[in-house]
Amino acid sequence: MKQKPIIGVLALQGAVELHKAHIEACGASFIAVKTPAQFASVDAFILPGGESTTMLKLIERFNLWDVLVEQFSKKPVWGICAGSILMAQSVTNPTQKSFGLLPITIQRNGYGRQLESHHAQIQGYEVSFIRAPVITKLDDNVEILAEYDATPVWVQTGNKIASTFHPELTKQYPSPMHKYFVDLVKKNA
Ligand code: GLN
Repeated sequence: MKQKPIIGVLALQGAVELHKAHIEACGASFIAVKTPAQFASVDAFILPGGESTTMLKLIERFNLWDVLVEQFSKKPVWGICAGSILMAQSVTNPTQKSFGLLPITIQRNGYGRQLESHHAQIQGYEVSFIRAPVITKLDDNVEILAEYDATPVWVQTGNKIASTFHPELTKQYPSPMHKYFVDLVKKNA
């Protein structure tokens, strides 16, 4: 049990700094990470929301794929929106490369153009779906932590978690999702 774990938020692109207040409110440390040395220094990763194609390009450009594969294999990871797309086993609309950390199929921009963005209450907490993906298929060993409109939106297998929504935009610290993740990291670390 680690009392004050270090949570690294992958800082290539997307909503990084907004996680700081949530993570600190859980009694953990926040760092924005983009180098292999920084990756090695953290207890767990958050892959933030943003644009998954841009993140993929930067991962390739900076040659970070293999080091991330190795890091993700041994630490808890939580992917949010674009981050959940990077974690999926397979991606549609269109297909793209992913780390395959969770046995789910995810459809990019799954709510269509007319629903660019909307808010919802998950476990009594306001979260945002922003050009969000939809989990269209999941294996039996995937636990559903929350559903919205009868679709799984927050899922877990072992120490890997994905949410298709953003909880970090609400300024009520910490979000239940950050608390859930940091509690898992504290138990694992
Ligand atoms: N639509 C984005 C993608 O496909 C995800 C949007 C988000 O992370 N808010 O990567």
